[in-house]
Amino acid sequence: MGLTSGAAHLIANFGNEALKQRFIPHMLSGKWGGTMALTEPQSGSSLSDIVTSAKETDNGKYHIKGQKIFISGGDHEAVENFVHLTLARIEGAPAGTKGISLFAVPKFRYDDDGTSVYNDVCAVADFQKMGQRGYSTVHLVYGEKDDCVGYLVGEPNQGLKYMFQMMNGARIDVGMTAASTATAAYYASLQYAKERPQGRKIMNSGKKDVSEGQTLIINHPDVRRMLMLQKAIVEGALSLLLECSKYSDIAHCDVAEAKSNHQLLLEFLTPIAKTYPSEMGRIAINNGLQVLGGYGYCMDFPLQQYLRDIRIMAIYEGTTGIQSLDLLGRKMPMENGKALQLLTTQMTETIKDAKSYENLSAYADILAGKMGEIQKVLTYLMPYAAKGDFENYLADATIFMEMASNIVIGHQWLKMALAAHKALHSDEKVFETSFYESKIQTMKFYFKYELPKTKACLETIMHHDKLTLVDENKELIF
Ligand SMILES: Cc1cc2nc3c(=O)[nH]c(=O)nc-3n(C[C@H](O)[C@H](O)[C@H](O)COP(=O)(O)OP(=O)(O)OC[C@H]3O[C@@H](n4cnc5c(N)ncnc54)[C@H](O)[C@@H]3O)c2cc1C
Repeated sequence: MGLTSGAAHLIANFGNEALKQRFIPHMLSGKWGGTMALTEPQSGSSLSDIVTSAKETDNGKYHIKGQKIFISGGDHEAVENFVHLTLARIEGAPAGTKGISLFAVPKFRYDDDGTSVYNDVCAVADFQKMGQRGYSTVHLVYGEKDDCVGYLVGEPNQGLKYMFQMMNGARIDVGMTAASTATAAYYASLQYAKERPQGRKIMNSGKKDVSEGQTLIINHPDVRRMLMLQKAIVEGALSLLLECSKYSDIAHCDVAEAKSNHQLLLEFLTPIAKTYPSEMGRIAINNGLQVLGGYGYCMDFPLQQYLRDIRIMAIYEGTTGIQSLDLLGRKMPMENGKALQLLTTQMTETIKDAKSYENLSAYADILAGKMGEIQKVLTYLMPYAAKGDFENYLADATIFMEMASNIVIGHQWLKMALAAHKALHSDEKVFETSFYESKIQTMKFYFKYELPKTKACLETIMHHDKLTLVDENKELIF
């Protein structure tokens, strides 16, 4: 449904009136499905290498020829027709991303006399996946019989720009799906931990009292750590995703400065909002599975499914590697670092606010220290970019992503703890006292167990050994 509404959205934003009337009502009613068809066998992360071709016919339509792989929801029996929003290259278009156009390619087209005709776009294979088995992911072949018609959406050669407008929203959606999957895992493991008796509590003497019954596993510190880690990750991720949704709303408002600032912040945070829940959500679920011991590995419980399902989130809509290049290579320097400045201002305000409360002040200091670490790393990296040595600048972009997202989520946690602290001391509590207390406790957990990891990232990024760069003069070490 998300893909169909996304595809309909693209036609609504960029298509002409005829396209809108032909496709959108059927898509929004759920009778037809929509897909996003970008990936080709030789062109996954690098969309500039797309070769699917479009040849204009006499009547202004285009003949499409080529193939797309991994197309989500690309064929199944739940809808009557599909509209594949397809990236292709019009004959003679410039090379690279500047020559990519967007086409609506239906599985069944309506010819001028109104009859429905099979449009020569065929699902030749359904990929068998490790997770997400509830929907199809297909290999599409266009124009095998030279009879596949595509309708140009918007202007020629603007396809990637249009698609990216949709993909930025889709990246937040992927983050949200990852956070939701990890949340389901958290609650499943929490319930199990409250019901499963195993072992006895460690007594101060260090001995076990076997005459006593077994304790529930939720009473073991290590199990509590695994549960708290999940809570810290999923609620931290959710809070960032809600923040991004708020920025997206404000970016649509009428106040010019607020609009542009929040658009910038949203663009800056999008790669993190996609990557943190996808990467750390997987670690959260892995810990959830561990809470169930052997049962976690078995089909009797859903944890194994959640772990398989979340794995794709770090791959599609731009892999973690690609998101990290985007964050460090494009978003950091964007508008002379203005987005980073805006975020830094927000963090400084949170820190100032938190410092005025005795029990939060120490955590405010820790976050201030982390901002210093990011600054140190950027000061180290920037000269590489300045002298055009982008290989060195970007080599550890994924480690930078790990560090930056850890700090961004740390900021979210300090804000949540601040709000919880203020609510606890006011007469207007919306939730139970325990809700607010658990937020403060989880912030403390995050600051003790997760935030210190940024130091390791800093050391790695700033290490003098550049071990992953390709040296043409040396033998491969692999
Ligand atoms: C279940 C599923 C559903 C999908 N749904 C869709 C869909 O609906 N529509 C669609 O168009 N596509 C879809 N995809 C495709 C998905 O978007 C791609 O698989 C993804 O973009 C990666 O491309 P690739 O598989 O070709 O890997 P590659 O691009 O070959 O990447 C392989 C590895 O190399 C790294 N890498 C590549 N280039 C660079 C670089 N320049 N710098 C550093 N590292 C790099 C990557 O990070 C990755 O780790 C889907 C895939 C799956 C598995």
